[in-house]
Amino acid sequence: MTDPCLFCAIAAGQIPSQSVYSDDHVYAFHDINPAAPTHILVIPRKHLSSVCDAGPDDEALMGKLLLAGQQIARDQGLAADGFRLVINTGDNGGQTVHHIHLHVLGGRQLTWPPG
Ligand code: 5GP
Ligand code: ZN
Repeated sequence: MTDPCLFCAIAAGQIPSQSVYSDDHVYAFHDINPAAPTHILVIPRKHLSSVCDAGPDDEALMGKLLLAGQQIARDQGLAADGFRLVINTGDNGGQTVHHIHLHVLGGRQLTWPPG
């Protein structure tokens, strides 16, 4: 059985990544092309292609994703100065990898609105 999803392969350890957090439900790792001094991706181990793919059964999992992002931001020392959690969704949202991922961005003043 082959799995064509990049982030499923990363969560399974088939493709190396720089891990920062792991549990039964979520996995977090450093972004390969950081857009800020700290740029971490948090993903559910379950394959969901985007936020639009999540249903009522995923309510707890989506909560775990957000709380993992919060904890990682704290662990990375971002909480005092602030940080940003982002989920790009679909083409207009700029999503390039079709497995839900929460960006944790911090370590500099981020601008708004995004480009
Ligand atoms: P998106 O644009 O879909 O919201 O974000 C995808 C993110 O995944 C990008 O920030 C990109 O740099 C990151 N990324 C893509 N491929 C890899 C990879 O193989 N390893 C890691 N660590 N990050 C990746
Ligand atoms: Zn996947």
